[in-house]
Amino acid sequence: MDFFVSEVSEQEIRREREKSRELRRSRWWQNRLALGRCHWCGGSFHADELTMDHVIPLSRGGKGSRNNVVPACKQCNSNKKYLLPMEWEQYLNSLENRSTSQ
Ligand SMILES: [Zn+2]
Repeated sequence: MDFFVSEVSEQEIRREREKSRELRRSRWWQNRLALGRCHWCGGSFHADELTMDHVIPLSRGGKGSRNNVVPACKQCNSNKKYLLPMEWEQYLNSLENRSTSQ
C-alpha cells in the first residue's frame, strides 16, 4: 500500500479527525492511557502526559480508528511531528538499540 500516491481530501481528514475525537472520549482509549505506556519509546508515563498519536498520519490517509491510534509521550509525539520520516526511523532505531544494550 502506497500512502503517497493517494490524495487525501480535506473532507476525509476532517471526518477522520472527528472520529479520533470520539475515540479519545471512549473507555477503550481511557484504558489504554491508564496503562501509562508510550507506544514508541516504551516509557512509563502518567495518563496526563500521554497524547493520542496516529501511526499513519491522517494527512497520509491514516484513519481515526483503533488500529491506527497509539498513546505517545509528549517527546515522541513532537519528535514524530517535526522529524522527517527518515529521521523518525533513526530515532526509533536508537530507542531499540538502547533497550537491547541494557
Ligand atoms: Zn515516548
